[in-house]
Amino acid sequence: MIKVYLNRKITPRVANGHPWIFNNEVDKVDGEVLGGETVEVYSHDKKFIGKGYINPKSQILVRLLTRNKADEINEQYFYTEIKKCWDYRKQLGYTENCRLVFGEADSMPQLIIDKFNDYFVLQTLSLGIDNWKPAIVDALNKIFKPKGIYERNDVPVRELEGLAQQKGFLSAPFDTNIIIKENGFQFHVDIENGQKTGYFLDQQDNRKAIQHIVKGADVLGAFTYTGTFEIHAAMYGAKSVLGIDISENAVAQANKNAKLNNVQDSCRFETANAFDVLKQWSNEGRQYDVVMLDPPAFTKNRETIQKAIAGYKEINLRGMKLVRPGGFLVTSSCTNLVNEEMFLHTIDIAAKDAKRKLRQVLFQRQSGDHPIIRGMDNTHYLKFLIVQVQ
Ligand code: SAH
Repeated sequence: MIKVYLNRKITPRVANGHPWIFNNEVDKVDGEVLGGETVEVYSHDKKFIGKGYINPKSQILVRLLTRNKADEINEQYFYTEIKKCWDYRKQLGYTENCRLVFGEADSMPQLIIDKFNDYFVLQTLSLGIDNWKPAIVDALNKIFKPKGIYERNDVPVRELEGLAQQKGFLSAPFDTNIIIKENGFQFHVDIENGQKTGYFLDQQDNRKAIQHIVKGADVLGAFTYTGTFEIHAAMYGAKSVLGIDISENAVAQANKNAKLNNVQDSCRFETANAFDVLKQWSNEGRQYDVVMLDPPAFTKNRETIQKAIAGYKEINLRGMKLVRPGGFLVTSSCTNLVNEEMFLHTIDIAAKDAKRKLRQVLFQRQSGDHPIIRGMDNTHYLKFLIVQVQ
């Protein structure tokens, strides 16, 4: 097997359990590497560190799968690991829909599998894990006997690994417009053309958290995608709900979801740029009992963190102004480079500028099917805050 030896001084990151090994952390590689092979990683003094997969095309040369020397990386290995992921989700009660595999947090770097009841959507975002796709599909078939498996590898990050973007069936073809149930409500999910894997499972527990504050309320939601938060609000008894998203497709799907749950009279969606309308409507003095914001990630690189923070400040400032005194702001951030402290600080600054006082009701992260590993920043990304705006 190919052996990779790290530099004398290994970074605390690797020592503390992070699975990524960058090119500049490697002293030498023994063996001929084409890309995608399983390798053994050793410290400079030949102590075993772990086994993983290698890709010389990527800046992240090796991603570790295991630190146990006895583990053999083969078909059976992936079956066992995916089975473990399923046992964990079942234990936590995520039996119908869940992120079944959350990459690094499940020791399978760059592998994402979302389970939508009997359907599975898969992303293999690095060469090493992409090579195991047949074994992964085989494991899903054995464990779940799914009605369908679909690949959503139409993700630009694959190109950093020398992989093409692609999507398609990994099972017999099936109707990719499915309906899932969450917290007792129903949602259309477009597996083939929806954003990411089609549906944002990471907010599933947070959607439940709005239950009591929306009763009898006038609710405004921005960045709604297919309207999941807003339909929850309507189903939990909101008086009126308006949702806006910049994507016409998302708005069409959201209106379809309102009909599916029979709340089309109280809950409607419109296409608009949230930055424009939040500003305009707050200037006009519109008022809502609850305003909900769930924007996409504002940056993926460190150079533009300040711009992302300015974006959060802007929408939250406007959002607060739109809340009647005593009402609630429900606000999220999924930018992992904007950490919790930065996000909460930005909300405080926005409140100051809006001349409003906040009382924190609740602060949560993503749901437990997306476990967080301390020190692994990319597993620790979603911030979800409810504040009362006085
Ligand atoms: N709340 C949703 C997820 C939202 S994802 C859920 O729980 O399912 C972020 C959404 O913001 C996307 O649907 C995207 O189309 C939308 N978006 C991005 N920029 C926008 C803008 N400037 N104005 C309004 N919507 C925007």
